[in-house]
Amino acid sequence: MLVTEIFRSIQGESSYAGLPCIFVRLTGCNLRCRWCDTAYAFYGGTKMEMEQVLSHVNELAGSTGALVELTGGEPLLQPECAPLAGRLLAAGHTVMIETSGERMVSVLPREVVKIVDVKCPDSGEGGTFRLENLEALDRKDEVKFVISSRKDYEFARDFTVEHKLAQRVGHVLFSPVAADPCGSWQGLEAQQLAEWILADRLPVRMGMQMHKFIWDPATRGV
Ligand code: SF4
Repeated sequence: MLVTEIFRSIQGESSYAGLPCIFVRLTGCNLRCRWCDTAYAFYGGTKMEMEQVLSHVNELAGSTGALVELTGGEPLLQPECAPLAGRLLAAGHTVMIETSGERMVSVLPREVVKIVDVKCPDSGEGGTFRLENLEALDRKDEVKFVISSRKDYEFARDFTVEHKLAQRVGHVLFSPVAADPCGSWQGLEAQQLAEWILADRLPVRMGMQMHKFIWDPATRGV
C-alpha cells in the first residue's frame, strides 16, 4: 500500500479530539476540495507491505492497544485499507477512519469507528456523498460537515434534519473551514458558525481542528 506518513499526535477532529492517536495517512485522493489541507497526500507516498505498517504502528503504540486512525487523502481508495483495519483491530487497537463519504464504508469491519464527511457545496465536491453509506453507520460513528459559508451551513443543517442524523449516529460534527496559512482560501469565523447553530437549536457538536491550535497550522505530521 502507498503510505504518506505514520505518526503519533493528538486527535483533533471528532468526538475523540484531545486523545493521543496514531495516524496512518494513506496516499491519494479522488476529490479536490477547495480548502483541502492535506494536498501533500495526493501524490507520492512510500510503498509499504501491510506487515510493515502494522509493525510501525505497534512500535508507536508500545505495549498497549492504542487509538489508530486511518486517514488520507482518501484511505478507502486502497483495497488493503479494510484488511489493514481488521488486522489492527485483531492486534487490540481501537480503529477509526476519516473518509470523504464518496467510497462505500460497508467494506470495513463493523467495529471500525467511521468519521464520514458529507461534502458541502462550496467545497467544490458537493453531491459526492453516497447516501447508501448512511445505512452502514450506527451510534459509534460520526458524520462531519466542513463549512465555509452560509450556503454550506444551510446545506448541512437541512441534510442533518432530512436524514435524522442525530438519531442515526453518535455525533454530528460541524466544523468551520480554517483559513489557509498561505492565503489560498479564507476560513469561516468560528463564532459565526456557533451563532448559526445556536439560532437553529441544532443537535450537533462543533469541531475546531484542535491540532491547528496546538501546533502552527502549517505543520505537517501532527
Ligand atoms: S476528500 Fe479530504 S483529502 Fe480529498 S481533497 Fe477533500 S479534504 Fe482533501
